Amino acid sequence: MRGAVMYAPGDVRVEDRPEPTIEKPTDAVLRLSASCVCGSDLWPYRGIEALDGPRPMGHEYCGIVEEVGSAVTTIRPGQFVVGSFFASDNTCEICRFGYQPSCPHRESAAPGGAQAERMRVPLADGTLLATPEVPDDDLVPHLLAASDVLGTGWFAAVAAEAGPGKTVAVVGDGAVGLLAVLAAQQLGAERIIAMSRHADRQALAREFGATDFVEERGDDGVAAIKELTDGHGAHSVIEAVGTQESMWQAIHATRPGGHMGFVGVTHDVSLNGMELFFTHVHVHGGPAPVRRFLPDLLDRIWRRQIQPGKVFDLELPLEEAADGYRAMDTRQAIKVLLRP
Ligand SMILES: [Zn+2]
Repeated sequence: MRGAVMYAPGDVRVEDRPEPTIEKPTDAVLRLSASCVCGSDLWPYRGIEALDGPRPMGHEYCGIVEEVGSAVTTIRPGQFVVGSFFASDNTCEICRFGYQPSCPHRESAAPGGAQAERMRVPLADGTLLATPEVPDDDLVPHLLAASDVLGTGWFAAVAAEAGPGKTVAVVGDGAVGLLAVLAAQQLGAERIIAMSRHADRQALAREFGATDFVEERGDDGVAAIKELTDGHGAHSVIEAVGTQESMWQAIHATRPGGHMGFVGVTHDVSLNGMELFFTHVHVHGGPAPVRRFLPDLLDRIWRRQIQPGKVFDLELPLEEAADGYRAMDTRQAIKVLLRP
């Protein structure tokens, strides 16, 4: 089968890969309907995160179950499934507490990569969720989005306690930031301020529920948020970038007692304890427990209440994955969908 492998920064190749097989009784093998390139895939692509050898890429997926191991009980061949990027048992104390990415049994959900024709998913019962039936093709991008980017934006909004009566600010206008806007809107936020300076991204943010825009960054961005909130800062701020500047921008844009949810994978971020101490801001984030939200998200998509797949503004055949990385790296595309 064909799959994408990153050899070095800027060097992604689609090549012949070993066929995935059932290795443990809890595994499933899927034939992928679609996959995509994640913002976090750009960290090694840009050389900011080190590669320890060629890496099979991709961790966002949906598709048809081809085969399951003998211990799998909730998933069966022929079903269309969506799963999270971490495999988890979904039965232990930590999973039931809603933090599946910290499951003591967690492992990568796509050990052989998901930018591929087929993939093996470990802990299939705990990781995958089937849709009521095989979806119409137009629903596939929206369902794919639930696998990571929507679930991550949703977690950020929940971590930031977005909800009725709240003013929410979103730092980052990548796909996760845009879907955090959608999540905040669905959770009932009163006002949603998107921090973006790109007209096309602002337009999508508006469609997802943004009510205001701030184009400034850093201290100027914080000042602009304060100006829009009577000098107090937002109740809820979402950080969807992962840099030193964006973290402080998010924390300082939050009012005392407010909540900041961070989901950008942090790179070289350090927070000064004393500075944090005096902010009075709740700070919560990490790898999103997508599995916690999947039942609700798939239901909203299935009923066509939300269209998170609108973040995919470029669709390419899997064979052209390298062009997809390039388009996202140069910000010509918000997010690239790959069709095997
Ligand atoms: Zn668990």
